[in-house]
Amino acid sequence: MDRGQQANHDSRRTTPDGRANQSYEMDAPSPFRVEPLTDFSRAEARRAMDAALAQVAAQLGTTYFPIINDQAVSTAATFDSLNPSHCKQIVGRCGRSSVEQANAAVAAAKAAFPAWRNTEAAQRADYLFQAAQVMRRRRFELAAWQVYECGKPRREADADVAESIDYCEFYGREMLRLAQPRRRDVPGEENSYFYEPRGVTVVIAPWNFPMAILCGMSAAALVTGNTVVMKPAEQSAVIGAKLMEVFQEAELPPGVVAYLPGIGEEIGPVLVDHPDVAMIAFTGSRGVGLHINRQAAEVRPEQQLIKRVLAELGGKNAIIIDDDADMDEAVHGVAASAFGYAGQKCSACSRVIVLESLHDAFVARLIEATRSLKLAPAEDPGCTVGPVIDADAHQRIRDTIEKGKNEGRLVYAGDAGALKDEGYYIAPHIFAGVAAEASIAQEEIFGPVLAVLRARDLDRALEIANGTPYALTGGLFSRSPENIARVKREFRVGNLYINRKITGALVDRQPFGGFKMSGIGSKAGGPDYLLQFVLPRTITENTLRRGFAPDVGAAELEF
Ligand code: NDP
Repeated sequence: MDRGQQANHDSRRTTPDGRANQSYEMDAPSPFRVEPLTDFSRAEARRAMDAALAQVAAQLGTTYFPIINDQAVSTAATFDSLNPSHCKQIVGRCGRSSVEQANAAVAAAKAAFPAWRNTEAAQRADYLFQAAQVMRRRRFELAAWQVYECGKPRREADADVAESIDYCEFYGREMLRLAQPRRRDVPGEENSYFYEPRGVTVVIAPWNFPMAILCGMSAAALVTGNTVVMKPAEQSAVIGAKLMEVFQEAELPPGVVAYLPGIGEEIGPVLVDHPDVAMIAFTGSRGVGLHINRQAAEVRPEQQLIKRVLAELGGKNAIIIDDDADMDEAVHGVAASAFGYAGQKCSACSRVIVLESLHDAFVARLIEATRSLKLAPAEDPGCTVGPVIDADAHQRIRDTIEKGKNEGRLVYAGDAGALKDEGYYIAPHIFAGVAAEASIAQEEIFGPVLAVLRARDLDRALEIANGTPYALTGGLFSRSPENIARVKREFRVGNLYINRKITGALVDRQPFGGFKMSGIGSKAGGPDYLLQFVLPRTITENTLRRGFAPDVGAAELEF
């Protein structure tokens, strides 16, 4: 209870039939505050992380089966999750959930739904506050799993756990706000407007924010009263299992959340197509997201509801460098945004649009700054770039670099050196002289590859910046108040950052998400997010009763 954010966790009570006790008691939580990041300049923090890495190293190779109705169920097959920094190392084996198990997970979630829907909002919020406490206690260990399974550098892994905590704390408080019915009573008539959960929610997550995204979507669904089937990405299925442990430690009731590791192409369509699924919360690639959106729109004969799809997709994010930009800040901001976590963030910068007069000097400085970034295994405390996630990504990015050589001038090609044989390493690459229509300036790469585009003036820079099908993040480095004001108006992206890096959005402070091909739905960690998981209802009661119901037995009413 280190932040005074906690509610009273001992007061969780339900009636025997599973319905919420009407007087669930919880102290009002303190206002939301972002969880501080670990300060790794402190020796004790470094020691704690080293100890967690050693502790987790001793557990690598464990098998994790699906968990349905609070029970682990064995599977006929498993798949291995590998450490991208040392690709021969197995981080864990995960059960390859079958179609029958996917159906069983939905059935369990459906059975658990009525009681969970009727559980008081404050009580559901309290479960999230409890989950946040568990994550605080296991913070370094959870970060260590990310270092091994997803090749996340220590600081980034720590930030991902902090973000997971933030989602639980923030959505818990948001639910308390939403739970207050809106009243519009007039004499003789009571009007109440309130929200109910939708039902069984399938959460399908990517690997790049392995805990935060899975946790954020699941926490939002759970706290609003939906039951959840969690399908983590294959590459981060062990971290999915760790999140499940967190929810179990928080004592969420059986059936309310299921952990379903498996192959997306095998069990994804079963979950999306299932007639008892009310909602799909997806974060991942544009291709898969559009496919899910299409599939969910099909209505099967036995289906009783229209499914809702929430899809947070990719980006082709640009930073504009104005001709009066502070070069030190701009170079640092672009390098951090483009190459942090090897460019594998949906918010990462993959295009930098530089105004003519600054172009050559900027590119020269950017190359030097990029050269100084350390490519290393993720557990190395000095690592900033790290490996890419797996062999497929490695091959895809290498192919993109080859294609880029026909589309621009390769002005910097980092070398992975001896690390090449150890894991999936690709050092940063920078292309200059790239045309706005070139594929490396239009398609998401999701790796440490940056395209530099030249613009004669701010008009053209804005035209290039807005000229892709995506609208996720964007940035500007400028010292001109007039240009800053114009870019704020005209650079149409979900999250725009001025004079800072464009990654690292914080819950509540910078609600995150885009539009156009970057997604459907409102922003994670923002004030409208939970509304997507609920159905509004209005109840009107005429209170001008004419007399009272007669106080007679049923027999006396027979004529
Ligand atoms: P994918 O789209 O490949 O996978 C995402 C999830 O979908 C995985 O769990 C995957 O399972 C599953 N899946 C795959 N095929 C199907 C299917 N047919 N039906 C249902 N589910 C399926 O994305 P990545 O994991 O590679 O993540 C990277 C992408 O995510 C990038 O495009 C990135 O921009 C985007 N992203 C967007 C964010 C945002 O907020 N806008 C945030 C973070 C990432 P499996 O792993 O088994 O294949």
